[in-house]
Amino acid sequence: MKLSRLLAPTLKETPAEAEIISHQLLLRAGMIRKLASGIYTWLPLGLRVLHKVENIIRQAMDAAGAQEILMPGVQPGDLWKESGRWEHYGRELLRFKDRHDHEYCLAPTHEEVITDLVRKEIRSYRDMPLNLYQIQTKFRDEVRPRFGIMRAREFLMKDAYSFDPDEESSAESYRIMRKAYEEIFDRLGLKYSVVEADSGSIGGSFSHEFMVLAGAGEDAIVSCPACGYSANVEKAEVKLADESAAEPIMETEQVATPDAHTIEEVAKFLSVKPHETAKTMIYLADGKPVAAVVRGDREVNEIKLKNRLGAAELELAPASVIAEVTGGPMGFSGPQNLEIPVYADQELFGIPALVVGANQKDAHLKGLNIKRDAPKAVRADLRDITETDPCPRCGATLTFARGIEVGHIFRLGTKYSQSMGATFLDADGESKPIIMGCYGIGVSRIVAAAIEQSYDENGIIFPMSMAPVSVAVLAMQAKGEVLEAAQKLHDELWAAGVDTVIDDRDVRPGFKFKDNDLSGIPLRLVVGKKGLANGQVELKRRSGGDIEMIDLDKAVLTIS
Ligand code: ATP
Ligand code: MG
Ligand code: MG
Ligand code: MG
Repeated sequence: MKLSRLLAPTLKETPAEAEIISHQLLLRAGMIRKLASGIYTWLPLGLRVLHKVENIIRQAMDAAGAQEILMPGVQPGDLWKESGRWEHYGRELLRFKDRHDHEYCLAPTHEEVITDLVRKEIRSYRDMPLNLYQIQTKFRDEVRPRFGIMRAREFLMKDAYSFDPDEESSAESYRIMRKAYEEIFDRLGLKYSVVEADSGSIGGSFSHEFMVLAGAGEDAIVSCPACGYSANVEKAEVKLADESAAEPIMETEQVATPDAHTIEEVAKFLSVKPHETAKTMIYLADGKPVAAVVRGDREVNEIKLKNRLGAAELELAPASVIAEVTGGPMGFSGPQNLEIPVYADQELFGIPALVVGANQKDAHLKGLNIKRDAPKAVRADLRDITETDPCPRCGATLTFARGIEVGHIFRLGTKYSQSMGATFLDADGESKPIIMGCYGIGVSRIVAAAIEQSYDENGIIFPMSMAPVSVAVLAMQAKGEVLEAAQKLHDELWAAGVDTVIDDRDVRPGFKFKDNDLSGIPLRLVVGKKGLANGQVELKRRSGGDIEMIDLDKAVLTIS
């Protein structure tokens, strides 16, 4: 592989649109390019990294007895209506019609399609356990695509689905997947934590997330060094002894306008149509903007506020809360006031008053009547775990960290098999719903997550398992015996099965070193005139350590 022929357009400057280090370095190293918001092209070096991740996952899944299939990315709306998710999934589901006016969507996940497959193919308990997986492109119309491939709209996922005849067998399928995931993330050289993803319930958890520990992570995770309890803070809750204890952390802001008394009217102000999602800005009294997401879906009414400046999660109001304060499920039918319950850490964010405005220019809401004496105990008996809470399991002191969700495993039970009629005949000839599990890995997100964990001021430091190539041979002159020797070394390495790139470009050595550091290739061999005179080349590891001089004729042996 010749760098002179390779499309690897490196950038000297950090692109302004890239907030986090992985996004910056992937752009700078010429591994990805943006097509549209949250939609990226993988260039040759980046794609090689993606393929390495894919292959590690594939090997582990195959070894765990899962079978690879490939399902369509375009899915009929009718299937989603069967499961009920056409209504409930919300705006992340990109829907469209074909020329015959039939409804379709771009797959954000594949439970419906796989359930449709197995309901036709699985007949008997003898057909199970079965585990099917794919590595496939997903589309989610994320409210706020950001951080490059980390939170993209189009991204690569490995999704597996297990099918079992009973709970015991399903639990075993889950255990096998959990173990396979640990193998995968170990092989990828990631520092990660397995956390409980549903409420910090004691006893068998039905869902675990695999979190790569990194400051740029969008999730907050707690762990207990004493008993091993670990959970996603968003999902982990502690029970409060009494209602009054809830007061300091939550507060309800009522938002109403003189001219807007119905949900429709307020929604119009917020430029959100019923069943749509709107981004809006809420400004703190000191002028700091906080991004807010107001969702008008029937099922998922939530308001998410994020502190844009600190990236800390400010709050999350679950659907039930809004339903409670509005006095019924939000159907956008009757005249109701839109109430925004704000869970805020007063001390941290100090919110004396809120002004709500639409996110369009000149569309700020005026004349808002903001009441501050709204219902106290919106969610009186539960609240999220905070820094000062003891472990909900053993009472010891918890530690907090930020994490990037790279994998998520669920036990689905019969959620889909029941609604979609995926049944089998058990040993007694009785018809029963299949018990399912699903297991996702963010293949493309892993590439970003790995970089967040491993870089320095000069660029990416890939572990060998993920590097675009293992070795870069840098020719210090783009002609004559230096180039010839470098080319020969490169060819011999390929022949020995070592993936290698040669920097044969006619540019200054400094340029070559810089680009090489940027792309994170683990081993660098420098072929220069001086070394060659002694029959030697320089070997340097991207991860650090001194330069070693090695004999040219032993270089292939040393490396392979
Ligand atoms: P998140 O909480 O980050 O939005 P999720 O819980 O919605 O993720 P899952 O439905 O659990 O995602 O999907 C399985 C995996 O797919 C996730 O663990 C994550 O690694 C990856 N993934 C999800 N959304 C994205 C995205 N927008 N861009 C890249 N990878 C993603
Ligand atoms: Mg998501
Ligand atoms: Mg998640
Ligand atoms: Mg998830």
